[in-house]
Amino acid sequence: MPRTALVIGAGIGGLAAAIGLRRVGWSVRVLERAPVIAEVGAGLTLWPNAVRALAALGLDVTDHSVSTISRGNILTPRGRWVRRNHPEDVGVLAIHRAELHDVLRKALPESALHTDAEVTAVSTDGTVTCAGEELHADLVVAADGVNSITRRTLWSGDPVFQYRTVWRGVTSVGPVQESLTMGRGLQFGVLPLREDRAYWFLTANEPRANTLYGDDRAEVLRRVGDWHEPIPQLVAATPPDQVLHNDMLDIDPVPTFVKDRVVLLGDAAHAMTPDLGQGACQALEDAVVLAAHADDLSTYDRERRARVHPMMAAARAGVARNSNTSALRHCALLVAARLIPPTAWRKATAQWANWQPPKLP
Ligand SMILES: Cc1cc2nc3c(=O)[nH]c(=O)nc-3n(C[C@H](O)[C@H](O)[C@H](O)COP(=O)(O)OP(=O)(O)OC[C@H]3O[C@@H](n4cnc5c(N)ncnc54)[C@H](O)[C@@H]3O)c2cc1C
Repeated sequence: MPRTALVIGAGIGGLAAAIGLRRVGWSVRVLERAPVIAEVGAGLTLWPNAVRALAALGLDVTDHSVSTISRGNILTPRGRWVRRNHPEDVGVLAIHRAELHDVLRKALPESALHTDAEVTAVSTDGTVTCAGEELHADLVVAADGVNSITRRTLWSGDPVFQYRTVWRGVTSVGPVQESLTMGRGLQFGVLPLREDRAYWFLTANEPRANTLYGDDRAEVLRRVGDWHEPIPQLVAATPPDQVLHNDMLDIDPVPTFVKDRVVLLGDAAHAMTPDLGQGACQALEDAVVLAAHADDLSTYDRERRARVHPMMAAARAGVARNSNTSALRHCALLVAARLIPPTAWRKATAQWANWQPPKLP
């Protein structure tokens, strides 16, 4: 009899975990509370570590993505160049989240995916209460996101609001070049997606969690409407109801990802702010390492914490850097970005991107 796993959550992490476990012979059921398994959201950068994780799961998203550089071209709001892409920069794939999610979902049989399946309780012996029914498995993978009910009940730790907020959109105004425009406490990023679409985001300081703006697109334009081209054009061309707005949340590091038969994976285990663009990449890595060590969860626990805890700290350092509004420090940041040698720049990103997946049995 194959061993059994219940995966809570059909986000990028949960689907990848299900694919990995099935590859090593487990029987897997994915429980998703939403009525359909789909991903909204805008774009995503997949660093080389994530591309290798996908390959280890037997997946290739080259045809769904654009090969580009993240954070290589840096400008001021008036369009002055601070730094240009360099051949030594680490490349990334830019992909629409829905397309990545679709690739993952299609790698699983429909029979493994259960919708309208909200998990309300989990215990460490592998029992899960889902839609009023008790289910049992050899392994429970909690991939239920930053607000994970599993983490909050079996571990502890509510999400932490980082006093930052982000707007995102996908639109098309013709070909765009990757760029990051740095204002004081404000960053506007642009990444090309397939079919001449562009993914844009604006991050900003936010004193209160859950602040709502009646018209998100108008709010973004209020902040960056006079920034260099094509920023105002990209925002104006995005249908108002397709501008997404979220607060930036992360969690404090948890001391273990494993309790008996339950493991945390993805944002449930290590939600971090998007400052490194590594959250989903790490969920993919988790999935591969879990599949490789499903019989030895202590190795999963040890390897994954050693990998992601420094990254969580680096993401928080990124929050501190990016939220700065002092003119002096902002100027120092731009000067540093201009002067830092390409090899040092590469080293800063390569430390996260250089991961190699374990071989799956
Ligand atoms: C603005 C922004 C930009 C980002 N950019 C990048 C990037 O460029 N690169 C990158 O790698 N990462 C990025 N990230 C991070 C990335 O989005 C997340 O790390 C990743 O999506 C986490 O996936 P997950 O599957 O762990 O969690 P989620 O995507 O949150 O999925 C959790 C799933 O669990 C389900 N669920 C929750 N509770 C229950 C329950 N009780 N019962 C059943 N189902 C449940 C939910 O409905 C959901 O489907 C970004 C994040 C943000 C906010």
